[in-house]
Amino acid sequence: MANQTNIEKAARQHLEMAEFFSGGLIVKGQIPMEQENQPITRPPCAPEAIKELEEIDRQVSKCTKCDLGSLRTNAVPGEGNTSTLIMFVGEAPGADEDAQGRPFVGRAGQLLDKIIAACGLKRSDVWIGNILKCRPPDNRDPRPEEIISCLPYLQRQIELINPKIIVALGAHAAKTLLDTPKPIGQLRGIFHEYLPGIGHKPIKLMATYHPAYLLRNYSPDNRRRVWEDMKKVLAELGLPVPKVR
Ligand code: URA
Repeated sequence: MANQTNIEKAARQHLEMAEFFSGGLIVKGQIPMEQENQPITRPPCAPEAIKELEEIDRQVSKCTKCDLGSLRTNAVPGEGNTSTLIMFVGEAPGADEDAQGRPFVGRAGQLLDKIIAACGLKRSDVWIGNILKCRPPDNRDPRPEEIISCLPYLQRQIELINPKIIVALGAHAAKTLLDTPKPIGQLRGIFHEYLPGIGHKPIKLMATYHPAYLLRNYSPDNRRRVWEDMKKVLAELGLPVPKVR
């Protein structure tokens, strides 16, 4: 009986979160974002940059710089709009991503899609990737030596795409990109600077909770925190901020 109640509670919470981030709670009078069609991209990436990004994808797909290379089904280089102003960076591929070779396609990815949609954007407007390109077994945390081997790929992808804002999803992404031991609770909600290589300007970085964390630790407060973080990102980009309760 208690078990049944817990399942019902979890189902209710997930539905509430899904509706919230689907824009189901757009306040009366607010223009739905998809009608506004705000530009979220810059002029297209230079052809040399596109070529190099494709070359990174090829290198990642055959990478054996760490042990994860021999355990994967597919590497997940990251994907999306290379002219975007926003890059989302998560932790590492999970089972669904490993199976498909694409980032954020499992349950956490479905929630990320809803968060992106709640912002009035489409997945095809943004670029999505991870700190690690291959799945750690049993979804364990990335190991320092794996991050050290893999990070240069993402660092170069960031330099080539040169977004206006990076959204770091969760503690691993935020701590790695900011090179800090601070917990996500202290990092989220404020803009930081990500420092690319020499000759590249700092890029604003907003850290927020990972969608998988939101799924595991649902509360209206955590949901609201992610939404507050995303509203700051939209405001920084000069995009209209949809009003949701
Ligand atoms: N979690 C991540 O951090 N990345 C993915 O691609 C999927 C789940």
